[in-house]
This record gives sequence, structure tokens and C-alpha cells, in this order.
Amino acid sequence: MILHLKPNITDSKAVAIAEEVNAFHFVSNGTNVLITGSGMKEVPSSIEDSVDQFWVFDNDIQLASKKYQSEKREVKIGNTVIGGKTNRTILIGGPCSVESESQIRESAELLVEMGLTTLRGGCYKPRTSPYSFQGMGYEGLMLLSQMREEFGLNIITEVRDATHVQDVIEHSDVIQVGAKAMYDQGILRACAKTQKPVLIKRGFGTTLKEFVQAAEFVLSGGNPNVILCERGLRTFETNTRFTLDLCGVAWLQEHTNLPIILDPSHAMGYAYGVPVLSKACVAMGIDGLLVEAHRDPSVAKSDASQQLTHDGFRELLTSLKPVAESVGYSMI
Ligand code: PEP
Ligand code: MN
Repeated sequence: MILHLKPNITDSKAVAIAEEVNAFHFVSNGTNVLITGSGMKEVPSSIEDSVDQFWVFDNDIQLASKKYQSEKREVKIGNTVIGGKTNRTILIGGPCSVESESQIRESAELLVEMGLTTLRGGCYKPRTSPYSFQGMGYEGLMLLSQMREEFGLNIITEVRDATHVQDVIEHSDVIQVGAKAMYDQGILRACAKTQKPVLIKRGFGTTLKEFVQAAEFVLSGGNPNVILCERGLRTFETNTRFTLDLCGVAWLQEHTNLPIILDPSHAMGYAYGVPVLSKACVAMGIDGLLVEAHRDPSVAKSDASQQLTHDGFRELLTSLKPVAESVGYSMI
């Protein structure tokens, strides 16, 4: 249950009430908000006088639910805005991993040339094998931070575990919680304590309910800035890397108030499929599209097979603009 307390209730009284009914508490736009598990179906009589409005749920998708807030959340990322009523699909580009200063600089220059705002690259890579490239770590994060300063780009980079989450919060505009990390409570709780936007990627074996509940961890801790990212599920199929769940995207659009980004690169696993899949994604009226591109994919240190060339990335934007327009969106 979500409860909005009356305006005359002080913050300290709200904290006491939250303790009494074992609820999460935060202040949103001046309103004291309490959230309990969905098991609570009635306002406890002891706090009735303090409650202004309340919402009852039949499962633990609450703050993210359209039943609570019917309009899509608007999330400010650095110098731009995603979601809300913008009717815009933001194209987010960059390599899978930051590999060197010259490599990430070329990525940044490409985005600036194309008029794009948001650069994504991994520094703390959650690799499946301990013997593959693990990312440049803090050194890579500093390179991203430098690109942010020099080019005014927004930076998205991922957190692998809770040891470096504060560094990522400090130096990025969006914290990416990857498909393998989205169950990590240390990361989710740290993300809940900041106001930095958090991009949660859906695990490849994660139900929609589990996915949105990961978002609830961040929202209920007081950070309203959550964006969801569908990046493909593991199915019986092995010819493609994963299977992009567009049905799931339709479900999320219908039932949640969170902005949605799609990632066709990780879903497909092969560059040849990324442009056509991107069209399908953009045709759904989405808030962002995340596509990996590298100056020379053949030598990329991670996800080499799926990254577009820089020319391929330029062509992608040109081909997507009319698709976005056909569904009443603009592509930037
Ligand atoms: C990535 O974004 O480079 C990445 C590792 O993605 P995912 O968490 O979706 O596997
Ligand atoms: Mn990748």
C-alpha cells in the first residue's frame, strides 16, 4: 500500500508513523510518502487521521505502477530529459568497453558530430570468463569523466559490484545496473540513496515482475529516477545471442510509469541484425535506444561481434528518424 500523509504532518512525525506500521518512508515533492508490502489492504486505524490518500495493490509493483502514477516519469539525465511527455527516442551510443583514450574520444566525437547527447561505455565489466578483458576500471571512468567535461556529453556506465558504486555515482550521469547485477541488493540500495538516474537492465532469466521489483528497491529508497532496459532473454535459441522480449516491453508500457530503453545490440549479438531490430524497437514508441558502436569492431576487447562501425552507427540514425516520426516520436 502507498500512503500520502496529510500536509500538516511533520517529517519527524512521518518517520514515527512509518516505524509504527513498518513502512518505507520518503519525501516526494513535499509529500511524506509511506509504502508497505502489498499485503496491507486497509489503512491501520491508528494512523487513519494522518493519511491524505492511499492506493491498494495486489502485488509489490507499486511506485512503478500506472495505478499509482498514470503518467510516465520524466527523468533528467545531465543536460537532457528522458521519458515523460517528450515523445522522443534518445539514441545512446558508445563502445561496449572503454579501451583507451583515443578510442573513447573517437566515440565522443562521433556522437557530437551526430548531434547526440549521451555516451555509454563500460569500465567495470561483468564478464562471464575471468580470462577475458575485465574493463579499465577507475582509469576508464576517469576517461569518461574527461569526455563529459570536454564534450558536454552525458555519461552512462555500469556498476559491477558495490565496491565502486560511489565512484560511478560521482562521475556518471546515469548508473547502469547490468543484467547480471540487477539482483545485487548492495548496488540497488546504494542507487536508492542517490538522486542520480539509474538504468536497470533486465536479467536474461528475469520475469517482468522481478524486473520491476528491482526498480521498486530504488524507488522505495527515495530515488524516483529509474529507467528500465530490455536487452534480451535466454531462450532455447542459440543462433542469436538472446531473444529481445518486445511483448515484455508492451507489458511494461501498459503497466508501469517508468521510461523504457531498448538494447538490440546485446539481444542480437551480431551487428548485422542490429539495424533492423532497432527499427522494430523504435516503432514501439520507446524513450531510448542503446546501441554499441566501435571505431574498429574487429579488435574490440568485448562484444566484438555485435558492435556497429561508426559509419554503420551514422546510417542507423538516418534510417531510424522516419520510423520514429511514423509513430509520433522524434529521434535525437
Ligand atoms: C553492456 O551493457 O555492455 C552489458 C554488459 O550488458 P548486459 O548487462 O545487458 O549484459
Ligand atoms: Mn556490451
